[in-house]
Amino acid sequence: MAIQRPKGTQDLLPGTIEQWQYLEETIRSVCREYGYEEIRTPMFEATELFQRGVGQTTDIVKKEMYTFQDKGDRSMTLRPEMTASVCRAYVEDKLYGQPQPMKLYYIGPMFRYERPQSGRFRQFHQFGIEVLGADQPIVDAEVISLVWNLYKRLGLIGLEVHVNSVGCPICRARHREQLQEFLAARKSKLCNDCQERFERNPLRILDCKNPSCQEETVGAPTTKDTLCEDCSTHFEKVLAILGRAGVVYRVNPRLVRGLDYYTKTAFEVMVEEIGAQSAICGGGRYDKLVEEIGGPPTPGIGFAMGIERVLAALQVQHKLPEEKPKLFAMLIALGEQAQIEGFALLSDLRSQGMPVGMDLLGRSLKNQLKSANRQGVRYALILGEEELARKVLVIRDLTLGEQMEVSLVDAVEEINKKYQRGV
Ligand code: ATP
Ligand code: MG
Repeated sequence: MAIQRPKGTQDLLPGTIEQWQYLEETIRSVCREYGYEEIRTPMFEATELFQRGVGQTTDIVKKEMYTFQDKGDRSMTLRPEMTASVCRAYVEDKLYGQPQPMKLYYIGPMFRYERPQSGRFRQFHQFGIEVLGADQPIVDAEVISLVWNLYKRLGLIGLEVHVNSVGCPICRARHREQLQEFLAARKSKLCNDCQERFERNPLRILDCKNPSCQEETVGAPTTKDTLCEDCSTHFEKVLAILGRAGVVYRVNPRLVRGLDYYTKTAFEVMVEEIGAQSAICGGGRYDKLVEEIGGPPTPGIGFAMGIERVLAALQVQHKLPEEKPKLFAMLIALGEQAQIEGFALLSDLRSQGMPVGMDLLGRSLKNQLKSANRQGVRYALILGEEELARKVLVIRDLTLGEQMEVSLVDAVEEINKKYQRGV
């Protein structure tokens, strides 16, 4: 039997990959405009990094990691997310010694052992940014506005930006108490996971996707009610900056995010149209994380966006660019000598940046023209024995059905003129 790709993974083939390239290019230009630089870290890390950096109580660490012993008997894990890796690099590569803040972005594959379904893969891709070394509310606003402006650039509509503040360890302790008090009588009605969370991390009960848990937590005290003055002022400032910048958001007091290291601002972006997995982006501030993994106390904030889900949203909203022909011209060389000359001509055209091709299958003239038409190529460059003898080339415009003859020495220049006009 033929070998198949692992469950929950995808082959990205020509025809689809153009959509990925378009999205990645748009992301890169927006990051450039905001002054973010790219970082690439290893696809696998010491398991302990994620245990500490993502948190032992999270679904990611408890259920979803691809962990293995390598031949040196070290426990390694395919990265399930990249914030922990970026923070590790910040400490290990002493990025705190450079002018602050560090404004970084990444695009790459992540791995989680989940039940594959629409919008949920085992190898999926994220675009994310991290700002390290800055704690001002304006930073939170910049991060959220970058996402907002990226979606605007892509033409997506109907997005919901939810924001909340989960506070700091000081005000969260008060919230934790109030929440446990509220939930104590309802504990038996919560799912098994939430019963376990009750002691270890009751905040995350608010985040549970189980409908009965959601019902039991209606009216529960929210983090927003217990924010300390510092956290509350911070949150108000973030909202004021966002409002003036035209970012449409909704304060969602139930938004707590799944990870343990988040402090203050948390946010999520949703698009209903892509089905049950409607979250396309999640992020927030994590002022305790760098310290947690052994670095100097350093504030941080970032988000991660699911590339597959954004592509799904672009697809349903018909916002993906139309497929364009890949080649600008096809050489049609007839006879062995013409093929040799034509091949050299193609090299010259390619070295000047023109995407051009020729028949590689020994097809007849008729079939070469047919294939050029099928590929949507604008020009056929015809070089037969007779043209070769007269040192000319026929340039046929396949769209207009016109043709002209140019001398071979001028061919590159003539074709380039047409190319420049077309681009
Ligand atoms: P979810 O609630 O959907 O499980 P999450 O809280 O696990 O999301 P994060 O860890 O915040 O997600 O990751 C950020 C984004 O990455 C999500 O908003 C989503 O768009 C995307 N994402 C997460 N897990 C997957 C997956 N298994 N397949 C595809 N995209 C994913
Ligand atoms: Mg998840």
